Amino acid sequence: MNTISQIATRETIVSTNPATGEKLGELACATPDEVREAVRRARLAQPAWAALPVKNRLAVLKSFQRKLAERRTEIAELISREAGKPTVEALNTEVMVVLDSTEFCIRKAHRFLQDEPLPHDNLAMKTKRGKLVREPYGVIGIIAPWNYPFSTPAIETIGALAMGNAVVLKPSEFTPLVALEFQKLMHSAGLDPDLLQVLVGAGPVGSALLEADIDKVVFTGSVATGKRIAEAAAKRLLPMLLELGSKDPMIVLEDADLDVASSGAVWGAMMNCGQTCLSIERCYVQRSVYEKFLELCKRKINKLRVGEGLGSEVEMGPLIHDRQLRTVEDHVNDAVAKGARLLAGGRRMPQLGPNFYAPTLLADVSHDMRIMQEETFGPALPVAPFDTDDDAVRLANDTEFGLAASVWTTNRKRGEAVAARVRAGTVMINDAISAFGIAEAPHGGFEQSGIGRAHGELGLAEMVLVKYVDVDLLPRMKKVWWFGYGSAFQHQMSGFIDMLFGSGLGRRLKGAVGATGALLRKNRL
Ligand code: NAD
Repeated sequence: MNTISQIATRETIVSTNPATGEKLGELACATPDEVREAVRRARLAQPAWAALPVKNRLAVLKSFQRKLAERRTEIAELISREAGKPTVEALNTEVMVVLDSTEFCIRKAHRFLQDEPLPHDNLAMKTKRGKLVREPYGVIGIIAPWNYPFSTPAIETIGALAMGNAVVLKPSEFTPLVALEFQKLMHSAGLDPDLLQVLVGAGPVGSALLEADIDKVVFTGSVATGKRIAEAAAKRLLPMLLELGSKDPMIVLEDADLDVASSGAVWGAMMNCGQTCLSIERCYVQRSVYEKFLELCKRKINKLRVGEGLGSEVEMGPLIHDRQLRTVEDHVNDAVAKGARLLAGGRRMPQLGPNFYAPTLLADVSHDMRIMQEETFGPALPVAPFDTDDDAVRLANDTEFGLAASVWTTNRKRGEAVAARVRAGTVMINDAISAFGIAEAPHGGFEQSGIGRAHGELGLAEMVLVKYVDVDLLPRMKKVWWFGYGSAFQHQMSGFIDMLFGSGLGRRLKGAVGATGALLRKNRL
């Protein structure tokens, strides 16, 4: 790590505790030359890593897992300090999911990387054996956000490394210390330092990484930046995985357990101060239970304990920075100005620190309000009524995003029927967000919420190139379809098509007779 005392003339970023405004550190940003050099070193180190037996690579991940489990509290507290979330949330949604995802890789990577025989039907190709072979891309560039500063880049890195890649990681400029700690843990687990390098800096360092000699970019962040990444990647046809923002809907059917659903709504909207890509950002409740649901949510929201994440009783921390605070405030004010009922919150909490906003409940919201269209990414639960299941599906799908959604009901069949019609990468029935904690479950969005999948086997698949290897079992035989064309061959091929696809047994048999000549034909070249 370059500290400011070492490099006085560089651009720097300051890491700040969002709850208190306290400066946690000042770090020098990587220069374009350093970015290129990091990628060069990663490229040099990667072939030897890829050539290791998988079990040797997994041994490093096991060692990382042990070290992380040992240092869980320290890491969770660092996440709390730099990102503001309650320490227990950092333990559950960051440390725990990384431990679990590492376990998933340890269990699955070996089988996933085994060659996969690919049987085929075509009679003409029966002398061939095919298989799928998975090989690493080489160097994966990861660009990460601040809201899950540990789990997001760590899960992606672990999958990339298990598959035999090297990683160059550009963390968010708001949470560099967490990323550097992750790097330290990996290196102390025995990973060659060139195989995971963290580059500190803001957008320009991310741009420089995209221009460097990486083989794939894995980006998690906002839609706006995602589009810039896609444009830059398109210029050189760089493969990409994009995990972007969303506006996830919650649908509460009249037969839901309202006590459970209201607790789920408050947690799903307020955990991590609403700054989760899978946060409940819109809530639709069937009209017959609408007022009761609002009453329950209001009571529960008013009981939330807000404060600095390091306090063990705290349930909700601050927003990450002033810009995020203003976005939430703008969305809430716009909704109220357009007729929404403010039932709780709707104000800053400066007595707690610079970036605190009270958990907010809005009723009677509509789709002409920004809070129902744009990602708010803050502690606000906007609620609207609906009449029929069709209405709920139409409202849920009235968005340009599609990361996740949730349906709440005690009737599983009805829940699954609604889930099938909601357009989103993940639909949870009777829970929200938690699918992120299932290591086997793919994570990714429809439409503006992204391209590709992280987590699970689909996530591992993003970290490899698939090669089809085809072996001809008759190496001394020229193939019948090679040159030597003519009317006889055309007739034979036509017969072959009749034999395979002709209608009626007679036609097929006749075709077979016509086709046999092809087996005896002399190849002209
Ligand atoms: P952001 O888009 O502002 O920044 C993300 C990363 O991109 C940061 O590291 C940033 O420095 C970098 N960056 C910015 N400009 C760049 C450029 N021109 N070239 C290359 N890199 C650049 O997002 P954020 O505010 O850090 O994160 C919040 C957003 O991330 C929300 O929209 C949230 O929904 C989304 N998110 C999505 C997922 C998911 O899995 N779908 C997970 C977490 C967060």
